[in-house]
Amino acid sequence: MNDRQLSNEEKQAVWAWIEERVGALECSVCSNRDWILGDLKARFISELTKARGYPAVVLVCRHCAHMLAFNAILVGVEEPDPPSAEEASDE
Ligand SMILES: [Zn+2]
Repeated sequence: MNDRQLSNEEKQAVWAWIEERVGALECSVCSNRDWILGDLKARFISELTKARGYPAVVLVCRHCAHMLAFNAILVGVEEPDPPSAEEASDE
């Protein structure tokens, strides 16, 4: 397993975080409440830097396939990126 894939422990942590912060999550498209947690961590890449971005975990609605992303750092399954050389030189 590589670090781009959620471990079973991380999946449990994601579900626990959602349960604590959100509770029963209803799909905004079809109102279904049955979700699949994607195996892979995702990343919304910055158009500006191409490399850095927003790490995410993704839920997929089992009924309509709508996808919902949560920030993986705030959920607690990803460490923040170290500052880039450019950002470090700004300090
Ligand atoms: Zn749905």
